[in-house]
Amino acid sequence: MSGDADDVVRFWERLGLPGIIDVHTHFMPERVLAKVWGYFDSAGPLTGMEWPIEYRHDEDERLALLRSFGVLRFTSMLYPHKAGMAAWLNGWAADFARRVPDCLHTATFFPEEGVAGYVREAVEAGARVFKSHLQVGAYDANDPLLEPVWGLLAEAGIPVVMHCGSGPAPGKYTGPEPVGRLLARHPRLPLIVAHMGTPEYAEFLALAETYPRVRLDTTMAFTDFTEDFAPFTPAERGRLAALGDRILLGTDFPNIPYPYAHQLHALERLELGDDWLRAVCYGNASALFDAG
Ligand SMILES: [Zn+2]
Repeated sequence: MSGDADDVVRFWERLGLPGIIDVHTHFMPERVLAKVWGYFDSAGPLTGMEWPIEYRHDEDERLALLRSFGVLRFTSMLYPHKAGMAAWLNGWAADFARRVPDCLHTATFFPEEGVAGYVREAVEAGARVFKSHLQVGAYDANDPLLEPVWGLLAEAGIPVVMHCGSGPAPGKYTGPEPVGRLLARHPRLPLIVAHMGTPEYAEFLALAETYPRVRLDTTMAFTDFTEDFAPFTPAERGRLAALGDRILLGTDFPNIPYPYAHQLHALERLELGDDWLRAVCYGNASALFDAG
């Protein structure tokens, strides 16, 4: 076992957990992932900073690593940057979930003709979680083409992990305001705000406080890397404690510029207690997905 894995396993063993559940990991077709990595390498405008990827390995090795960490369930977050791509990605993700049973079947969409149809098909095929990336996709969550999608996911109770915060760089449609309008129309949508809404933490926490089905994932939040450009105000920690049943561990593995365990230590040093850590790193996702 690598030192990396030792560090992660010690974390959940100390808490008396059977392992952890990570709701925000990326698996996608190799060609697409290579493009994503190329983008991070170029420190492109959506990142605007050095982003050396820690876990640049082939798929088998990345899966073996997650399992050596004791990650019991994870996702294959994937997302289109243009029309005509989502249905194909969903086909890949369905196949991935079939061959990788510890991965929660993940799907995605884009505001385009036919979107309601292929989202319904993905749900019927067993998709457990969706990913919506407002920054890379550069679309409005309030696009009329998506109305039936939100309705369907709200009714089916299927969570959608949404990159809707304006970090690391703002998009035309990111930020709490458009998401607030979406939730006003679909208050029962099981929305998971990715990255704790970095950097608009306070505003996205307010949405979670207003809408009981809204959750947040920890992806990259509270790490040294993110604290550098989008610090979380310590005075807001009480709100994290109060929402302890609606915060879910996410990491962005493998596209992270530091070792996996750093995300866990970043949660630990919030000093919200072991019960909070147990809920965030295992219990909440286990209950939400009836898994683990
Ligand atoms: Zn991500």
